[in-house]
Amino acid sequence: MISSVLPTYNRAPMAFEKGEGVWLIDGSGRRYLDLGAGIAVNALGHAHPALVAALTEQAGQLWHTSNLYRVPQQEKLADKLVDETFADTVFFCNSGTEACELAVKMARKYWYDKGQPERTEIIAFSGSFHGRSSAGIAAAGSEKMTKGFGPLLPGFTHLPWGDHAALKAAVSDKTAAILIEPVQGEGGIVPMPDEDLRAMRALCDETGTLLILDEVQCGVGRTGKLFAHEWAGITPDIMMVAKGIGGGFPLGAVLATENAASGMTAGTHGSTYGGNPLGCAVGNAVLGIVADPAFLAEVNRKAGLMRQRLEGLVAAHPDVFDSVRGSGLMLGLKCKAPNTDLVAAGYEEDVLTVPAADNVVRLLPALTITDEEIGEAVNRLDRAATRLSA
Ligand SMILES: *Cc1c(COP(=O)(O)O)cnc(C)c1O
Repeated sequence: MISSVLPTYNRAPMAFEKGEGVWLIDGSGRRYLDLGAGIAVNALGHAHPALVAALTEQAGQLWHTSNLYRVPQQEKLADKLVDETFADTVFFCNSGTEACELAVKMARKYWYDKGQPERTEIIAFSGSFHGRSSAGIAAAGSEKMTKGFGPLLPGFTHLPWGDHAALKAAVSDKTAAILIEPVQGEGGIVPMPDEDLRAMRALCDETGTLLILDEVQCGVGRTGKLFAHEWAGITPDIMMVAKGIGGGFPLGAVLATENAASGMTAGTHGSTYGGNPLGCAVGNAVLGIVADPAFLAEVNRKAGLMRQRLEGLVAAHPDVFDSVRGSGLMLGLKCKAPNTDLVAAGYEEDVLTVPAADNVVRLLPALTITDEEIGEAVNRLDRAATRLSA
């Protein structure tokens, strides 16, 4: 008999009652060190006092009015994002896949309004993940996500990851945009080298092609910059944001330049819940903390410490691990043993990690993790690896 919850997930058997920072606590009081942070969502950990205060204060005032009216919390968050980034304008939604929907619509509408309606093609890359909507699965193009769901949204081309010559050859007078994650998450924590991102930006400038960055997982301080593309010294035309921006409250956003957004006039897009007062109150609290340069400096320092400790872990267990990779606190352990076995061994040692493609185990801790907690995390991973070798 089918379960009352649609069985689309392979869930681990545990459930949690409470969270405190990097800790998740189950009904029996067992404390797990959470290195997944809800897949990079709980950027400030569980139950951060500033987020709890922002949400509860807003909850006592006003939950929802719809976008028929001005939403001051939304305007404040948009102003802050515009101040802190390349963007001139922001649309709020509730998830990463909704951000993907708008990014694709915006790119196509741009060319339509510029009198080149044939420029509809979106170029994306192997191993990518952009969400589970029809546009999201068409963009990623992997058979695992698309099989049985045809006909797929047309107009997506898939190229190998990291092959600039192939990309250069593929961009044509039909291309609307290039869509890429600066650091692939689901694909196995794979950073695109800075020089490749710069070459991609240059190619877009030469051809007029719009550059869409999917920073749903790698954005909001995760790599030690507010947004990952800042490391390469480039800016996109359109950027998808979600996950960390809401710190656990469903919130997504599309950021764009005035030029890229020029087709999106009144009536061209909308969302009932997008940018509602609760989500934006939390988003303002998250960004108020994460955008602080001193906070980001700490993320970088702790990322260096964690990486160093993980290099030691890999060296101590050459039968289990191959290498460490990633950027900032978006780290991957490339495994030799099956990655899901390591995740399961972690459950036994009270440490939570997330599997990704390419036999990688993802470590995406709250950006607020302390030095001591990093030490404890690596000790628990060490015990999990020992358990696997035994
Ligand atoms: C999680 C993710 C998405 C989809 O976000 P949802 O909120 O699950 O719809 C899109 N892109 C990337 C890079 C992601 O990691």
